[in-house]
Amino acid sequence: MLDNWKCRMCGSRAYQFNPRSMRLACSECRSPISTAEEMKAKVQLEKTLAFAKQHLHVGNYSECRNLVLPLLDQYPADKRVYLMLLACSTKGYTDLHITDDEIRCEAAEYWDKLERLRCVNNAMIDYARRIRKRTNDETSKKRRKHIAALLCTCFLLLIFIAAGQPFLIVCGFIATSIVLWRIGKVVFTSLFKEPTRNSTYSNSNPFL
Ligand SMILES: [Zn+2]
Repeated sequence: MLDNWKCRMCGSRAYQFNPRSMRLACSECRSPISTAEEMKAKVQLEKTLAFAKQHLHVGNYSECRNLVLPLLDQYPADKRVYLMLLACSTKGYTDLHITDDEIRCEAAEYWDKLERLRCVNNAMIDYARRIRKRTNDETSKKRRKHIAALLCTCFLLLIFIAAGQPFLIVCGFIATSIVLWRIGKVVFTSLFKEPTRNSTYSNSNPFL
């Protein structure tokens, strides 16, 4: 197949297909052989990635995504492809609350691939940390609101009791019960909610 081929590393003329790297390689030293087609495809890949990087740099996330997405099938183990797609989905790691379910699912998948490729970088870890902080802040805010509502209704109930108005006392009891029921529901749900991986691992997938 390759006429007059000679290994540049060891000088051997024998080569074979390596199923692990999916490439032709020297039979002696296992150096991969780059054919003209492979070189052409490699140059095209680098060109596309460089172009996509420019789009990413200026915030053209959909343009970058459209360029990189077709590469997934051709290079399923290239971490750069997943890193760029994740950066597009998260708008450069700035969107801490992805509302579009489809984009969120895609981001979860890209994160998972990067975990499998052992390519979780500092930008991703920092992004996951900021998402967790935002979630915790929202939970604290909700808790404070519940406590404030409970205190207000209790205060009103006390005023109604002091005023000695039976109708108002009943209304106060109903309002207090509703607030207590709502708080109890939140507490009950959190007790039986399965702990997410986010609470355990600092670099875990924040979209799961
Ligand atoms: Zn060789």
